[in-house]
Amino acid sequence: MKQLLTTFYYRYLAPKCMVLMYHRVATPPTDVWEIAVSPKHFEEQLQVLQATGRVVPLNDMVQSIKQGKIKDKTIALTFDDAYADNITVALPLLEQYGLPATFFVTSIEKGPFWWDALEQTLLTSPHLPATLQIPMDGGSFDLTEEATLTERLQQLHRTWKPFEADAPTRRAKLYLQLWQQMRPMVPAQQQHFLQQLLQLNNLVLTAPNEIATPRQLQSLKGHRLIDIEAHTAQHPALGMHDAQFQKEQVQSNRLALEQRFGKKVSLLAYPYGHYNGDSMQVAASLNFDAAFTTNPEPITKRSHPFQLGRFQVPDCSGDAFAQKLSGWLRKY
Ligand SMILES: [Zn+2]
Repeated sequence: MKQLLTTFYYRYLAPKCMVLMYHRVATPPTDVWEIAVSPKHFEEQLQVLQATGRVVPLNDMVQSIKQGKIKDKTIALTFDDAYADNITVALPLLEQYGLPATFFVTSIEKGPFWWDALEQTLLTSPHLPATLQIPMDGGSFDLTEEATLTERLQQLHRTWKPFEADAPTRRAKLYLQLWQQMRPMVPAQQQHFLQQLLQLNNLVLTAPNEIATPRQLQSLKGHRLIDIEAHTAQHPALGMHDAQFQKEQVQSNRLALEQRFGKKVSLLAYPYGHYNGDSMQVAASLNFDAAFTTNPEPITKRSHPFQLGRFQVPDCSGDAFAQKLSGWLRKY
């Protein structure tokens, strides 16, 4: 009975706030992880958010949570990875609608990120060898007739979501296999693996550098709407590495950002939302105020400060987004 009452209380009565997660405001040729929202949809979503009158800076939200005074139904906006479009496309719109946002920024200065390079190479290259050599294990993968990218393959790749459906093509199958193989690696290994994959198969990296340049990032210094916070030095899946490595990744990124932006960095977003007990311990020992996952859940006074959830915003219209927002707040 007590359990039921508690669930009822947190679902319907307790004050709740929520954090939204964006990555890109763009229309890339494929977007298997659904990290891009089109500029048109993004603007519609900002109109919805502005009309709620409930958007607050993430740091203010965290301070309220720390004091045990959650402001009910407040919303904070976050952007991960510092893609250039955050500054060239999202920022002017945030300014236009007067909405604050937090950018979680790594120490990586030049792209493309390995996951974008892999996606672009395997899913959008017009031509690949019929048999691809795979680095490290010395194996190979037959693409057969999928060596040439057809309109049909492109269409299948545009709509494929790995967390919803099996790979619809051989290219997609290989992409997912290599993505799973690369994600646990340390960043230097990931770069090496990618280089090897390209070299072994006589491929040229065509994925553009879509990361914000140091100069673009610098333009955010002291911006009245934008706060810069930590996302580790090189974007490893923290929970797959030992505690010392995790600490170095978090600490060096924070130091670099603090020096660069002349501000205190006290919030952390775990890359890929991947973390374990050590990651939480690292955030605590380095005196972070809060750390964010990618678990889609609202925040209540029961939430652990180093396990705060975020909702990934899909590429949907303002109307669809408004519906999602109210559904997310009821989620518990
Ligand atoms: Zn990230």
